[in-house]
Amino acid sequence: MLKFLGRGSAFTDEHNSAYFIENDELILIDCPMSAFIRLNDKNLALFDHIYVLVTHTHGDHSGGIGMLIDLLQFSVKTPITIVAPSKEVEADLFYLLSRIEGCSSSWYELINVEDLDKDWFVRSIPTTHTEELEGKCFGFQLKVEGRNVVYTGDTNTLIPYEPYIEKGTYLYCEISAYKSPVHLYCTDVHDKIKDYIASGVSVYLMHMDDERRILQVMSDTGAELAPLELGGATMEDNGRMLSGIFDITNSLYKDMCMNDSKDHNLLFSYLTELSKTIVDADRASFWKWDKRKGQIWTLSAMGIDKIVVPDNTGLVGKALRTKRMVITNDPYNDPDFNREVDLKTGYTTKSILVLPVADINGNFIGALQIINKNDEHGFDEDTDPKKLSLAALVCGIALESETFLEDSHHDKLTGLKNRMGFYYDFGNKYKDYLIPGSGKTMSVFICDIDKFKRVNDTYGHNAGDDVLAFTAHLIESFCGENDGVYRWGGEEFVMVLRDTDLEGAVKKAEEIRVKLMESDIEADGNTLRCTLSFGCALFDPSKSIEDNVSAADEKLYTAKETGRNKVCWE
Ligand code: GH3
Ligand code: MG
Ligand code: MG
Repeated sequence: MLKFLGRGSAFTDEHNSAYFIENDELILIDCPMSAFIRLNDKNLALFDHIYVLVTHTHGDHSGGIGMLIDLLQFSVKTPITIVAPSKEVEADLFYLLSRIEGCSSSWYELINVEDLDKDWFVRSIPTTHTEELEGKCFGFQLKVEGRNVVYTGDTNTLIPYEPYIEKGTYLYCEISAYKSPVHLYCTDVHDKIKDYIASGVSVYLMHMDDERRILQVMSDTGAELAPLELGGATMEDNGRMLSGIFDITNSLYKDMCMNDSKDHNLLFSYLTELSKTIVDADRASFWKWDKRKGQIWTLSAMGIDKIVVPDNTGLVGKALRTKRMVITNDPYNDPDFNREVDLKTGYTTKSILVLPVADINGNFIGALQIINKNDEHGFDEDTDPKKLSLAALVCGIALESETFLEDSHHDKLTGLKNRMGFYYDFGNKYKDYLIPGSGKTMSVFICDIDKFKRVNDTYGHNAGDDVLAFTAHLIESFCGENDGVYRWGGEEFVMVLRDTDLEGAVKKAEEIRVKLMESDIEADGNTLRCTLSFGCALFDPSKSIEDNVSAADEKLYTAKETGRNKVCWE
């Protein structure tokens, strides 16, 4: 929306001047000398074109135009177009500019609004102000960031603007603390402005002679003071922000496309960083919804552990449940806000925005959460979600593909990883163990349920399935942090044991063997017992993965041949 280089009347230090940026074009509304001074120390080279919309030719509205033209000519050479609201004002501007020594007409373009063909421009609106400017004073109707904007300029009446003000309009309204025939007196327009706001119009007060008095009078209307550019650096901030965004997307592209070690967490951390940068907030995180467990969880960007919360709590839970964006700029008074993380970390949450994301079928699967926007007003429900939409969308697609990948690596019956998961892990967490001479030790064993066919034949396939699931969970319960267990095929399982020698692998196999042998298995209404045979081998990095599994498999064959329910090794 509009930002102000100054929001004062002619009798203040900073004269009224607003700007907005669309597609790398800077559009100034009026260019008083005080606005030129603020523009002078900005990087105007960031813009493809500069437009100055002129409301009228009082010195505090037009006095800096000649200087701006000069500055551009001698510095960055950004083209500039001066836009007059009518033929008469165009003639006046032509006269004034041509009389400035050293401001050649070839250095700028002067046009009439009728010749301005821009999406952001709707119309100039003739109004009345001082007697001398009869027929030469205007406001504007604009379209900024998709919003209807009405900018009054200097006026002593709101009547000419009324046809263009509707629900959702951003009205930038001049106002004065003193009663005069040339400005809108605050006490007179108080009720009118209050009504506008009640009907859904956002009103920003500008061109003020006494801000404090105006604020006092207008305090119960809901009108706000026109937003001043904070710290005088917003344009550079925009440039810096853009290059910050490009740096992040470039790193993301390089890491995802040019490095071989990557996973979705890397993508999520870049996209949350990007989101944080785009809306200038303090923190961002991406939450995944585990519907089966009824949990939502995130890997925290703050370096603390994975945070897991029940999915029926917090604002992320609310966004997922209601399938809607959630914004609160006062979380501690929001009953849905979960304070637990703040209590744990000592952080103070001031504003939150949560965008839920759906998969291709429209099922909500996760949410992007942004915390503490660096703006006293917190998040804006129009502009911020718009800025975040692409990052949220990509997070959703990434999460969906991560879920597909996870599913394809897992076996539905036992929940263990399957052979695809096995090979995937060899390309990732076991990679270093494949390098001959690395000095790293790893072992494998393969085991197979004895006489399993009989279970199926005697008790049925369902009972067989129960036995498989039971056995898988039992083996998994012996799986340490450095180990991985996989369903290799039918009733065969493979365990990979990092930093474990053959002796260690044999010991673990033996423990599992004894445990299963002694376990009663509830299988489709029957209580059964089963045994496992094992073949163990030390992983030899000079051989292929398949040859290593074969070495263990040969020992499994020996175990089967020599009576079953036993552990054999190389
Ligand atoms: P051995 O001790 O020599 O290993 O004998 P076995 O009967 O266990 O071996 P065999 O290879 O003859 O039989 C394995 C059986 O496992 C055959 C197959 O139908 C069954 N099976 C494979 N996958 C599944 C499954 O997912 N569910 C069930 N219920 N049975 C399965
Ligand atoms: Mg078997
Ligand atoms: Mg078998």
